[in-house]
Amino acid sequence: MSENFADIREAVVKLCAKYPGEYWRELDRERTYPTAFVKELTDNGYLSVLIPEEYGGSGLGISAAAAILEEIQKSGCNGAACHAQMYIMGTVLRHGTDAQKTEYLPKIATGELRLQAFGVTEPTSGTDTLSLRTTAERDGNEGYVINGQKVWTSRAEHSDLMLLLARTTPKDQVEKRTDGLSVFIVDMREALGNGLEIRPIRTMINHATTEIFFDNLRIPADSLVGEEGKGFRYILDGMNAERILIAAECIGDARWFIKTATDYANERQVFGRPIGKNQGIQFPIARAHARTEAADLMVEKAARMFEAGEPCGAEANMAKYLGSEVSWKAADMCMQTHGGYAVAEEYDVERKFRETRLYRIAPISKNLVLTFIAEHVLGLPRSY
Ligand SMILES: Cc1cc2nc3c(=O)[nH]c(=O)nc-3n(C[C@H](O)[C@H](O)[C@H](O)COP(=O)(O)OP(=O)(O)OC[C@H]3O[C@@H](n4cnc5c(N)ncnc54)[C@H](O)[C@@H]3O)c2cc1C
Repeated sequence: MSENFADIREAVVKLCAKYPGEYWRELDRERTYPTAFVKELTDNGYLSVLIPEEYGGSGLGISAAAAILEEIQKSGCNGAACHAQMYIMGTVLRHGTDAQKTEYLPKIATGELRLQAFGVTEPTSGTDTLSLRTTAERDGNEGYVINGQKVWTSRAEHSDLMLLLARTTPKDQVEKRTDGLSVFIVDMREALGNGLEIRPIRTMINHATTEIFFDNLRIPADSLVGEEGKGFRYILDGMNAERILIAAECIGDARWFIKTATDYANERQVFGRPIGKNQGIQFPIARAHARTEAADLMVEKAARMFEAGEPCGAEANMAKYLGSEVSWKAADMCMQTHGGYAVAEEYDVERKFRETRLYRIAPISKNLVLTFIAEHVLGLPRSY
């Protein structure tokens, strides 16, 4: 989507230039959060572009958000630290009460409140979301009591609020298998130490991801978003936006790998000539470029359909699949182009290589995208 939002893109690139490789390397070594980077993006309004103007955002479409995330990744930065602040609020916007929208959205727009933790995945159920075991039981009229465990809840330590998916009706008592799950906004500032515990998980990337334990956590009745029992549908509604935005990040990553490899191939002299003179070096870079341009067209198509309010499940999934595949292939190409220097920290190639690998697994793994396409687009039998 390189032609669109030129002004926004230029401004984001300028902002990102203040956070060069050394900034990210240092954080990566210590596994610490990019506080200054996130603050600057927030203060400049980039994380609130999807929030309507009446709630203090800029009311732009998903293509603008995609452009911002693509430029962040293309600049060598890592939007995963805060991308969810852009889109998790969509569930509140679409399904929340007026009171919830007025209470939360303006503060999310200014950054006074962070809603960037999303508690869906659990250790026992994994991808099989409908089998999740965290329960929210009615506590008279007072509210709900939450018990259970989440895993891979990213940014929880850097978020004030969490969007939580929990079971309100036992699985064997629901009419439709997709019923019985509900969505809540949990105020983690109040919950921490009162039934909610966050434990960081050290991972191969600096992703601030955690596991969360709920032990009789009491939350007020007005934490419920939308109707009780309909939460799975609300979460699905938000997934197309997430997939399109992650796909745009992958395109940004791929472009960073292609540019970095091209620069290196032009500079590095071996056998008295630049290594880029060898077709064995050129072709993989050119191939990565061609693949990235093609995947970008799918991201653009999915974004356009999303903005037009058209069903775009297939396109959003294909964009995410193709994006994550091209960024991973470009990452491997960039490693190979750099020879031994690929593994040296100071080139940032190994860091970006680790970071982009995640997107073949999360927020949805590639197999599950392929099962969606097989079943819902091609009409093949459901495989699971
Ligand atoms: C760093 C990181 C951050 C994350 N952040 C969040 C977050 O903020 N919030 C959140 O809720 N979750 C988050 N996740 C979770 C992520 O969405 C899941 O890891 C992902 O959906 C896969 O689930 P799983 O790890 O349980 O794998 P599993 O479901 O155990 O699957 C393991 C493997 O089996 C394959 N598989 C499973 N079932 C099938 C099938 N039917 N057909 C074919 N293949 C199949 C999968 O594709 C995968 O390759 C994060 C994960 C990571 C690693």
